[in-house]
Amino acid sequence: MKKILLIKPRGFCAGVERAIDIVEKALLKYGSPVYVRHEIVHNKKVVDDLKNKGAIFVKELDEIPVGSVVVFSAHGVSQKVENDAYTNMLNPIDATCPLVKKVHNQAKYYSDKNREVILIGHAKHPEVEGTIGRIEKKMYLVQTSADVSLLNINKETPVAYITQTTLSFDDTKDIIMALKEKFTDIVGPELSDICYATQNRQTAVKKACEIIDILIVIGSENSSNSNRLRDVAQNHGKTAYLIDSYTDIKHEWFSDSTNIVGITAGASAPEELVIGVVEYIKNLLKIDIIDEEDFGIVEKVKFNLPRDLV
Ligand code: SF4
Repeated sequence: MKKILLIKPRGFCAGVERAIDIVEKALLKYGSPVYVRHEIVHNKKVVDDLKNKGAIFVKELDEIPVGSVVVFSAHGVSQKVENDAYTNMLNPIDATCPLVKKVHNQAKYYSDKNREVILIGHAKHPEVEGTIGRIEKKMYLVQTSADVSLLNINKETPVAYITQTTLSFDDTKDIIMALKEKFTDIVGPELSDICYATQNRQTAVKKACEIIDILIVIGSENSSNSNRLRDVAQNHGKTAYLIDSYTDIKHEWFSDSTNIVGITAGASAPEELVIGVVEYIKNLLKIDIIDEEDFGIVEKVKFNLPRDLV
């Protein structure tokens, strides 16, 4: 019998909810426009909705008129960007996710202890750019286990590793193992610093892979954690697609042997996109049964807003 399995937890995490809330509250408090440096979170619909409410998204601070309010995205910014906001006489509000801030603080801590800092992450991702710019010394970036052998650091040099928050748990584990094999004096967080939301969504997808035939991940192409959800399913032998909305779905993805369609959403994808996808697949495949499964994972995390927006 054909059915849709809605995988939980999915969609908005506490950091994304907080970041969107910050822009909306800033619009209420200061009026339009409120400038936002980079996409507040990596989702087209979220960004479009905030644009309609009066937010203006910019790439760099020099596009913003003096005296304006600017919100830093959930991915965080470098120390230079933070300093430049004040130099350019802007009024910055920081929507950096507290879990990304934690990684920034680890980078500073290890650097102050005279360790070379190695960041496990994806080049050009705004979170990585922000984290690399949080210490004055050079930070080394590794994206794969193969990159570890290319690191030009003596094996006895004290080093520390930190990780981008939205990676695949399995990938990070392998890279950390390679680092521990290469360096004799290495420290890092007890577990990798992949955040709870990324980890929970990946764990739920892994468990769902035992029963589903195909996985649809709702999330934007530039969303790191959404891409990783697709990777996790593919690594478990499942066909998986990443889509922005139901309009990206193709009929040929499904065959007569597709019985259980799993659906999840990245941490920046709103639930209304999930509802649209469910409706579309329901009609396309003539499915009546829709189940939801949380695999025993319950999320209760909430982050506080900056004090002057409460
Ligand atoms: S995915 Fe994790 S690190 Fe990123 S905003 Fe959400 S809670 Fe924060």
